Amino acid sequence: MLLHDKFGRAITDLRISITDRCNYKCVYCRTGNEGALYGDLPFEDYFRMARVLVGMGITKVRLTGGEPLLRKGVVEFVRELAKLRPQGLKPSSYGGGNGTLRLRSGQAPEAVPFPTPTVGLKAVADPTVADPMPDPKPEQQRTGDFSDPLDIALTTNGHLLADLAQPLKDAGLTRVTVSMDAVDPDRFVRITRVPGGYDHVLAGIRAARRAGLWPLKVNCVLMRGFNEDQIIPFGMFAREEGVTVRFIEFMPLEEGRTWAPTTVVTLDEILARMAEYRPLVEIPHARSETARRYRFDDGVGEIGIIAPVSHPFCGHCSRIRITSDGKIRTCLFSVWDHDLHAQMRRGASDDELAEFIQGVVAKKEERHHIGEPDFVPASRTMVHIGG
Ligand code: SAM
Repeated sequence: MLLHDKFGRAITDLRISITDRCNYKCVYCRTGNEGALYGDLPFEDYFRMARVLVGMGITKVRLTGGEPLLRKGVVEFVRELAKLRPQGLKPSSYGGGNGTLRLRSGQAPEAVPFPTPTVGLKAVADPTVADPMPDPKPEQQRTGDFSDPLDIALTTNGHLLADLAQPLKDAGLTRVTVSMDAVDPDRFVRITRVPGGYDHVLAGIRAARRAGLWPLKVNCVLMRGFNEDQIIPFGMFAREEGVTVRFIEFMPLEEGRTWAPTTVVTLDEILARMAEYRPLVEIPHARSETARRYRFDDGVGEIGIIAPVSHPFCGHCSRIRITSDGKIRTCLFSVWDHDLHAQMRRGASDDELAEFIQGVVAKKEERHHIGEPDFVPASRTMVHIGG
């Protein structure tokens, strides 16, 4: 039973929030007055959910939060997840043109070798110094073969990453996305409301590179009047640090409910601003990928833009989420969630869980309604969903 919604979208991407707690209070995300609102579950329970879902076609699991690295036992959890084997890919979910999955019509997927992510990386002892740029690598290539490992990713603010990057890699983590909304340390503090965080995060990014967690992405949410002057510095950062910097349009998912269309820095504006620094050339992206991808004209440095507000991509959405307290959310903007953990508490078998999940996914929302008169705010904000 592979997961599809009623619009024919294959669901291959699972995000699990493993804690509702966060050690940052980013101004666009949290009010600064609220702490965790929801509990978390034993890792065994998340593991069972993931196991059942991988049996239904999930090929990628992203751990998030809250701040996932606050959760003790995360390395062991990754090690357990890495034992799961996806049930093969659905060609329909990978129709895009980046060539990462090669399928001949009517035939089993052809083997494509995995890249060796650590090639080109040299161990550098000083975490304050950027490593040499790794060889440019395509997105992780998957064969669609039953022996493919699960793609296990992590979204983190990076504050605790420096010490955990190598253990996580050794446990089977494939890649990491670090959230970082300014490359200027003072601005970084104003955004996160935590003193001294910038150096920790930079050390975390460099440790992730050294560990071979690749591709390494840095996500920046832009807000007008607050950090849009960081666009060009982030372009330089992408080139100097050898990371993919992805700008995200600000969505109405913040605790303070302060979002307004005018605060969104759009894809077109980001491209125009970056062009003042260096021209960008668009490169292909997978259809289910959220980001449009660009390289600088000299081939050095990759930029992504995730534009859910100005260029929605709901038609290709392949994601579902599980919140820290075990609820399924089929859209970031869902106004309800579905209590998977309640099914487990009442003793449901794996087959019954799968049936419940199938019923929930069938009702996945067609699209979000940001900026439309009928927009209804999501029943949880981003930090309590798991972005
Ligand atoms: N603590 C982790 C982190 O910082 O990456 C994971 C949780 S955080 C909620 C996940 C991502 O959501 C971060 O990249 C954050 O910048 C993004 N985010 C939070 N609120 C957002 C909003 N209103 N619009 C767009 N992205 C948002």
